[in-house]
Amino acid sequence: MSFHRLSRADVEPGVGRDADAWCGRCGQELGHLIVAMVGKVVVRVRCNTCSGEHAYKTTRQVAATAQAKATKATRAPRAATAATGSTTRKASTGGEPSPAVRGLYKKQMASKDRAQAVRYSPTVESSAGLLIDHPKFGYGIIQSAAGGKGNVLFETGERTLVFDRE
Ligand SMILES: [Zn+2]
Repeated sequence: MSFHRLSRADVEPGVGRDADAWCGRCGQELGHLIVAMVGKVVVRVRCNTCSGEHAYKTTRQVAATAQAKATKATRAPRAATAATGSTTRKASTGGEPSPAVRGLYKKQMASKDRAQAVRYSPTVESSAGLLIDHPKFGYGIIQSAAGGKGNVLFETGERTLVFDRE
């Protein structure tokens, strides 16, 4: 065990040691001299062939970088398509109540007597469950009310109206 650890330490890279690295100038993997390290990572080397000093790169890392760039390029158009799709969806449903809202309205109206609907005005005393008759939006049921405002469910969706004014 100790022998193994020792021999491994022997081949660990260090400043002044040789390392195979990719030389951009020579365009191939060649023997380099390590000139700078950060911790155990080689960051700078000098080419034994052209004496050019540059950042340490193996051929494998060059390939990985190229692949990462290619992946990014193919991803970008896909993201743009998704964004356009969501915008189109939003625009087409604008203002219309969802089937869930319509269903809830029908369910709540089924238990209400329209003859007892209170004609809406800002002076109406709000209380949850109260059926009101609005001149513009029609029949609506107060879902909740607080601080002089109430959320009213109409056939066209929920709206906030003013209540409890003197
Ligand atoms: Zn070189």
